[in-house]
Amino acid sequence: MYESIFNRQKQFYQSGKTRTLAFRIEALKQLKRGIQYYESDLLKAMKKDFNKGEAEAYLTEIGYVYNEINYTIKNLENWAETTKVKTPATHTGSISKVYKEPYGVVLIIAPWNYPFNLTIAPLIGAVSAGNTAILKPSEHTPTVAGVISNIIALAFPEKYVASVEGGIETNQSLLSLPFNYIFYTGSSHVGKIVMQSAAKHLTPITLELGGKSPAIVTKNADIKIAAKRIVWGKFLNAGQTCVAPDFVYVDASVKASLIYHMKRYTKKFYNNAFKTGTYMNIVNEQHFERLNDLIQGNVVYGGTARRATLTIEPTIIDDVDFSDDIMQEEIFGPILPVLEFRSLDKALLDVRDLPDPLALYIFTDKKSEAKTVIRSVPFGGGAVNDTVFHLANPHLPFGGRGNSGMGKYHGKYSFDTFTHEKSILHQTTAFDFPFRYPNAKLFNKFIKY
Ligand code: NAD
Repeated sequence: MYESIFNRQKQFYQSGKTRTLAFRIEALKQLKRGIQYYESDLLKAMKKDFNKGEAEAYLTEIGYVYNEINYTIKNLENWAETTKVKTPATHTGSISKVYKEPYGVVLIIAPWNYPFNLTIAPLIGAVSAGNTAILKPSEHTPTVAGVISNIIALAFPEKYVASVEGGIETNQSLLSLPFNYIFYTGSSHVGKIVMQSAAKHLTPITLELGGKSPAIVTKNADIKIAAKRIVWGKFLNAGQTCVAPDFVYVDASVKASLIYHMKRYTKKFYNNAFKTGTYMNIVNEQHFERLNDLIQGNVVYGGTARRATLTIEPTIIDDVDFSDDIMQEEIFGPILPVLEFRSLDKALLDVRDLPDPLALYIFTDKKSEAKTVIRSVPFGGGAVNDTVFHLANPHLPFGGRGNSGMGKYHGKYSFDTFTHEKSILHQTTAFDFPFRYPNAKLFNKFIKY
């Protein structure tokens, strides 16, 4: 079944229709119209699948996607242009150009935590570069997946873009096909499975994975601002954000003050939502149970878990150690452990010992301190004195390294990701230097056997 969609897409791609600039811009406009048409269904679906409120859904999913489409339409002509590059004197007579070429038929596999954004944002890159695409949204947010299918069916014929609903088996059969590019967002565990499947066809891939992203707070930080921005980034989407600060690592001398303000802001931002049942829930029972088991030790804020609605209260745990259960894997839920350090140098060694995280946040008003952290720890990307916000800047490439992934996207980087740069040397026939050929007199003079 998927093979037939794949083959039809391959045929359509080979017709060359997807490659003109006008076609690609129209496709992006069609996509936007499709989303606008189903916007209210999309908002309802997010509410139904995991109680995501309208404002948050608009900010983090729909609005983000509109911005990305508009930005791409505005800049696409410029990005897609063939570029002339320098040619060395040894190549006198020729000129060199880089042609931007799509890969062909691409597969986009998405997770459930931002089920719309993480399916459609890569699609914007794929379409803008001139590819055809098969999307596989997450089975854990089935209502959103259904609306995505409707949007795609309204905007595109299946031979161009198709959305396929299903779980692991669907993914496995999709992954057996010889796609020209695979873009995967999800866990590092499944990322390895995707990479193995891609290797069978030598398919190039992007892996957008996760990890334990630290928020480091030094004694030179503005503590109130740090507290406010850490709890906002952590408890947004009930902590189910790939770049959420996973844990706080704070200088012991300012820990009490940071915790005091984190409690205050958590209460201010989320207490009412949790009390009235409008705080987002955990996506399913399995993740709820996993998170519930992690609520142990010195809970200084929250700690309530409501099984009936799969809701976990924003929770802060103090006095956590790297050997505790909560520090063994990405938390991916609204629980914030706090660890303390006495020397920043030692703290950086500890963080370097962890697998490379997707994000790192450093809170300090001392520029040299921020620079030291940025330069000495390997991680995907991040922010100084903020959390999460860096990913909403289309001028910044977004992606991980090592365990948190490979490749990057957003803005022009999405276009580049789905584009092969074909290098061409245009040689002159007006003259022909003899010395490059075997047995030329000058050439022989320099070669000593
Ligand atoms: P997941 O890896 O379980 O699922 C993602 C996709 O993989 C789904 O479509 C699912 O059907 C498929 N899948 C699951 N098991 C599979 C298997 N055995 N074989 C083939 N396909 C399989 O991830 P998730 O739980 O949906 O998402 C959470 C993870 O994603 C977290 O680690 C988070 O950090 C990460 N994430 C990363 C980013 C990013 O941009 N880097 C964004 C969001 C989430």
